[in-house]
Amino acid sequence: MSLKLGLVGLGKIARDQHLPAIAATPGLDLAAIASRNAALPDLPSYPDIDSLLAAGAADAVSLCTPPQGRFDQASAALKAGRHVMLEKPPGMTVTEVEALAALAQQKGVTLFTTWHSREAAAVEPARAWLSGRRISSVRVTWKEDVRHWHPGQAWIWEPGGLGVFDPGINALSIVTRILREAVFVTGAELEFPANRAAPIAASVRMRMGAVPVEAEFDWRQTGPQTWDIEVATDTGLLRLSKGGSEMWLDDQPQVVEEDAEYRSLYRRFVGLVAGGQSEVDLAPLRLVADAFLLARRVEVDAFEDEA
Ligand code: NAP
Repeated sequence: MSLKLGLVGLGKIARDQHLPAIAATPGLDLAAIASRNAALPDLPSYPDIDSLLAAGAADAVSLCTPPQGRFDQASAALKAGRHVMLEKPPGMTVTEVEALAALAQQKGVTLFTTWHSREAAAVEPARAWLSGRRISSVRVTWKEDVRHWHPGQAWIWEPGGLGVFDPGINALSIVTRILREAVFVTGAELEFPANRAAPIAASVRMRMGAVPVEAEFDWRQTGPQTWDIEVATDTGLLRLSKGGSEMWLDDQPQVVEEDAEYRSLYRRFVGLVAGGQSEVDLAPLRLVADAFLLARRVEVDAFEDEA
């Protein structure tokens, strides 16, 4: 029997990725939408998750709303005995996601904190290639144009919206997957526009044992966009590019594949529900929280959506 899914927060990522991925997932039926200002023809649509839950419209929900407010939405669904899949980041704070994990366990339902970038084609090959090799340094360069990717998204600049860590946490989700030892933050510099509550750029210093792991995140990059992770090892340089979809070894292509991240996420969700399991990994969110804890704050030019 198919899992009846409610999709909550019909915004950019829900339309770009979730709807086509759900349609392509065996064992999953899109049964209802909950969004304050949007609906889909021919599907029951509710203004909020509470009315969707009260109508008994779904066995599981996928939350594509901004992180601010997700805790209450996810709690309501878990308390109502529904399985829950969360867009990244899984919440505003580490503590609220831990509380959700405990609630899911208590109610005997699935909680899946997704990290879509970990599903990129080259991530698992990179993890396998790095296994057993001696790593000497790791460098993340994640630079994109916020006006192109997040036009008019006010929430992303508010506390809990993460600013440049909204994409940056994707890089950290890959780093914490391909490296097998714990990575921790040792220092950071965050650049806050004078009129915003979240950073537009961040430089984060981390280490894995004695190995330096450095990350540069910037939202002011126009022209070509950069989503690269370079790992120097005793047997060569591994480069993941295009957000983890390509793997290069000493500048030779190894894996170059089209994006299928969200299809993979929904297949995993259906499998987790069928197996009565949850998957909750907070490592990327912890690194971001630690960067905020240790950061020096620098004020830079005000940012406006219109250039
Ligand atoms: P978005 O375009 O702003 O869509 C979010 C939707 O959530 C809105 O359309 C809105 O629909 C609903 N919503 C509920 N409460 C809201 C509130 N208080 N403020 C604003 N919207 C609210 O955002 P998005 O880009 O889809 O991002 C949503 C989540 O997906 C974020 O956690 C983000 O990190 C993640 N994500 C985004 C991308 C991307 O490329 N954009 C990629 C991967 C992951 P109604 O007004 O109809 O309620």
